[in-house]
Amino acid sequence: MMSTRLKSEGLTDLENPSGKRGAVPVTVAFGDGIGPEIMKASLKVLVQAGADIAIEPIDIGERLYLSGNTSGIGPEAWDSLRRTRVFYKAPITTPQGGGYKSLNVTVRKTLGLFANVRPCVAYPPFIATKHPGMDVVIIRENEEDLYAGIEHRQTDEVYQCLKLISRPGCEKIVRYAFEYARAHGRRKVTCFTKDNIMKLTDGLFHRVFDEIAADYPDIESEHWIVDIGAAKLADTPQAFDVIVMPNLYGDVLSDVAAQIAGSVGLAPSANIGQQCAMFEAIHGSAPRRAGQDVANPSGLLLAGVMMLAHIGQPEVARRVHNAWLKTIEDGIHTYDVFKEGLSKQKVGTAAFAEAVIERLDQTPKTLRSVAHGAASKPFAVPQARPTKPAKKELVGIDVFVHATKPVEELARDMQAAANELFALTMITNRGVKVWPDGLPETFCTDHWRCRYLARPGKQFNKAMIVELLKNLTYTGVDFIKTEHLYNFDGEPGFSLGQGQ
Ligand code: NAD
Repeated sequence: MMSTRLKSEGLTDLENPSGKRGAVPVTVAFGDGIGPEIMKASLKVLVQAGADIAIEPIDIGERLYLSGNTSGIGPEAWDSLRRTRVFYKAPITTPQGGGYKSLNVTVRKTLGLFANVRPCVAYPPFIATKHPGMDVVIIRENEEDLYAGIEHRQTDEVYQCLKLISRPGCEKIVRYAFEYARAHGRRKVTCFTKDNIMKLTDGLFHRVFDEIAADYPDIESEHWIVDIGAAKLADTPQAFDVIVMPNLYGDVLSDVAAQIAGSVGLAPSANIGQQCAMFEAIHGSAPRRAGQDVANPSGLLLAGVMMLAHIGQPEVARRVHNAWLKTIEDGIHTYDVFKEGLSKQKVGTAAFAEAVIERLDQTPKTLRSVAHGAASKPFAVPQARPTKPAKKELVGIDVFVHATKPVEELARDMQAAANELFALTMITNRGVKVWPDGLPETFCTDHWRCRYLARPGKQFNKAMIVELLKNLTYTGVDFIKTEHLYNFDGEPGFSLGQGQ
């Protein structure tokens, strides 16, 4: 099957181009939409430059979805990935709606690729940009946050998505960002979170950032609230160097950063884990452009450059990168970055790759040439460390209820289920306190959180939870979920209600 795919792409000569036994095996997915065109173009450049790789093609994405495999990836592909541990991947189409999960998220999480590294660089004066001095690396956490994909419909009106942030997850990504900065001679690491609102989850990310920053006194560190940080990034990207952030903010802001640097079509990304790594463009499969030989292969090609550095071929990486810079400098541009007056020749995907190949021994004259290997030192991918267990004390429970009655009536039902050991202390609606002392102006849905705490001098325990839920069942309360309330080393492990 392996060579059949290379044959169908007309690439039989690329299977093990050097013919050497020591060639580094790389799993390659040609992807969907523009994927096969840009992957073919990129592989040709890498191989012509002397990349010593043995290509193992796999089929993933649309073909598998359409054949009924809802995960988009089969056992043979997993076998190859676990064997080679290096994945060069073209974009794939994720069918919208239905039961399909994003294959990108599946691969990143299954292979433990926790660090998503996205350099966003401007190339003035050759590619139009609002920010000529821009050279920012976004390091996005890749496994956690709202991307856990744990969602539930709980009532007629309310749906929930769980945001999960772990201490080992924060430690790995933040340490990776500082190690990356040190290895690449960068001066500053900035952290973006929204910990003024999400005090526990984003609060943990920020706290871990501050703890780890102290281990890197040679590198400046700072924190921005993500909203104003995003505004500053869009307006003055020169103010930033390396930025580390949780998954969702990193997803959104790396696209923004790539686009304001010049084009989303130029930006590569490396997904790094303890054992495996995946390299891809940040853009998608652009189905409207497929099969026309117009797509820009630069994002995927530059991801290939990152891959070559990763597998210990920095000299080849340097050759490809400098030839690519020279091509851009010579004004040979695909349609997405072509600008009358700035560009010299509009080319398609294959011709762009040929232009890069022709320049493999050249270096740019105006753009800064790169020296992979000399500029960056290899560093060990940070390990997750076990967290020291805290003294955990159960102090109460939040019971979530589906109800459409007035809050005073609901409060009476909920109070009736309490006893002399624990009491109903608060009801919130979508986080806002509505009992006791709510305001009539507050809009309420059918989804309520009712908080019970141990009465003064009493201890809460799990038997009380069973008792409480039994009482609520007898009263006919439609409880839909419970959340235990713990103190950790005496500190509450739960947030207050808004207005509490
Ligand atoms: P997209 O990035 O595929 O395309 C958006 C637009 O950007 C295109 O219409 C095109 O005008 C332009 N564009 C993107 N890449 C280009 C390139 N290399 N050269 C020139 N122009 C380019 O985003 P989308 O349309 O939102 O998504 C299409 C599909 O891709 C969806 O199914 C989505 O799920 C998938 N996707 C895959 C990945 C991945 O595999 N890593 C990432 C993002 C989106």
